[in-house]
Amino acid sequence: MKSTGIVRHVDNLDRIVIPKELCRTLGIEPKSPLEIFIEDSRIVLKKHDANGLVGKKRGNLGIIRHVDSLDRIVIPKEICKILTIEPKDALEIFVEDTKLILGKYEPACIFCGEAHDVYAYKRKLVCSKCIEEIKKLLK
Ligand SMILES: [Zn+2]
Repeated sequence: MKSTGIVRHVDNLDRIVIPKELCRTLGIEPKSPLEIFIEDSRIVLKKHDANGLVGKKRGNLGIIRHVDSLDRIVIPKEICKILTIEPKDALEIFVEDTKLILGKYEPACIFCGEAHDVYAYKRKLVCSKCIEEIKKLLK
């Protein structure tokens, strides 16, 4: 799974805009049906292929929602509730094969990935532990 580096905000109606370039890469067009499910506390969006369902266990089926004409998709209320996503929350967008993955955006240290106790320096985030380690280099 790799981050696209794109962070988008959920709007007041729990919608999120899927970036144009990702729609193109994944073959998502306006009005396309997407299957939505939760995996490892992230939201997974996958182009829904009705033909692909033959022989597939129904239990695997996610919630199906259509992309609107502006490439937006409504995140189902029940998923927002489970993952505690609220309007205006920022979601980071990842891709894996044909899946689009949305995770809560937690700014993290550029060196170690720690999300707690981080400071911004020249528009980069560094955690206090790494700051201490850098200080030691100067001694
Ligand atoms: Zn760090």
